[in-house]
Amino acid sequence: MQDVVEKVYEQVVARNRGEEEFHQAVREVLESLDPVIAKHPHYAEDGLLERIVEPERQIMFRVPWVDDAGQVHVNRGFRIEFNSALGPYKGGLRFHPSVNAGIIKFLGFEQIFKNALTGQGIGGGKGGSDFDPHGRSDAEVMRFCQSFMTELSRHIGPDTDVPAGDIGVGGREIGYLFGQYKRLRNSYDAGVLTGKGLAWGGSLVRTEATGYGTVLFAQSMLATRGDSLEGKRIAVSGAGNVAIYAIEKAQQLGARPITFSDSSGYVVDEAGVDLELLKQVKEVERGRVADYVSRRPGARLVTEGRPWDVPVDVALPCATQNELDADSATALLRSGCAVVAEGANMPCTPQAIEAFQAAGILYAPGKASNAGGVATSALEMEQNAGRTRWDFATAEAKLTGIMADIHDSCVAAAETYGRPGDYVLGANAAGFTQVADVMIAHGIV
Ligand code: NDP
Repeated sequence: MQDVVEKVYEQVVARNRGEEEFHQAVREVLESLDPVIAKHPHYAEDGLLERIVEPERQIMFRVPWVDDAGQVHVNRGFRIEFNSALGPYKGGLRFHPSVNAGIIKFLGFEQIFKNALTGQGIGGGKGGSDFDPHGRSDAEVMRFCQSFMTELSRHIGPDTDVPAGDIGVGGREIGYLFGQYKRLRNSYDAGVLTGKGLAWGGSLVRTEATGYGTVLFAQSMLATRGDSLEGKRIAVSGAGNVAIYAIEKAQQLGARPITFSDSSGYVVDEAGVDLELLKQVKEVERGRVADYVSRRPGARLVTEGRPWDVPVDVALPCATQNELDADSATALLRSGCAVVAEGANMPCTPQAIEAFQAAGILYAPGKASNAGGVATSALEMEQNAGRTRWDFATAEAKLTGIMADIHDSCVAAAETYGRPGDYVLGANAAGFTQVADVMIAHGIV
């Protein structure tokens, strides 16, 4: 990295001790900025880089709640309002025991550039809690969400900060959160949260959007090499919202997804994933991947290793950060995998990305390939503001158009800065320059 950029990185590490995921996300972006700053040195002036790596506001709060046995629990809540240059803060809420300030900060930082790439006028933010919804009753989840929202409601609003779902936060949680927000504010601000139910302001295609978008992005990358997903074997990780709808879109495009996973292991189904069964197990029954295997002849559960050990043409990591390391990358490359598109946020380690880029395969960072979720959240906000509702085909056509535009702006930026085909540089440069130009226009704030 150039000296000026390296100094900003060192400051981030010194000021945010122990927050490794945040350091990792910042480093990846700053490294990409070398050619951008060499060409446009004004981006390194007036403390712009120092400002962009510092959240505008960080909120941390106590979330007390009572379980079904009457026992009191105390979790920690977070909301990082990172950057509002382009619009209201926008980004999901994650409920998972691994959540801490560093995780939320890395996600919020990524979100700034992802949201810029969508071109929809949304700033970057993220939030969540170390609460674990697994094994909790609906009533417990509801009480937790009500307590969480009691504090969060002071900080959010349709023109201020608009949260959505992420790991551990789906339609059920958004419902409880919205109910409590409405009650506290005495106001039906549908645009304060996205990922809502269809009967109360949700958008068609929001559920499918992140997974669909990731697969559409992979298809666009393959098209640059005169190829398509038709007939390709695909490894998917995760069995949540992103993974399920990545599998659905991949099947629609004629590919054969053969794996999925959760924290108990991964499933290999050589005949191709039975999507209806997977949805039944995961969306309806909230079960484990073993419940799929017990009802699906020919499928097997593997409790050691990762889905990346299975020979495939395309890999779609859709579970969590740093789930695909250098060894997994080596295994994928050895088996001939030629495309990796991230459905999750930062699922590939820096060493894995280096291996993919050195091998010259198609690799898409999540901030570009998984932007379909937040893009469709912005479409939900648009429908809420206009008190209207689009049909599935209209919303899907808009998502498809946005993903194609994101792909093309990554390709164009990578060419502009001298590294054609480098989607990491392309996504970071295209996202950064949009945010930076507006920050310069707004003055030192
Ligand atoms: P879900 O909670 O719906 O699903 C997450 C899946 O990943 C589950 O199968 C879960 O298994 C698995 N998983 C999570 N953490 C771990 C872990 N530490 N080890 C192994 N498996 C794990 O979340 P989403 O599908 O919404 O999110 C998945 C990824 O996509 C995240 O990185 C998220 O930030 C990203 N993303 C999501 C968007 C969205 O619209 N939902 C938008 C953009 C990005 P288990 O149930 O056993 O924990």
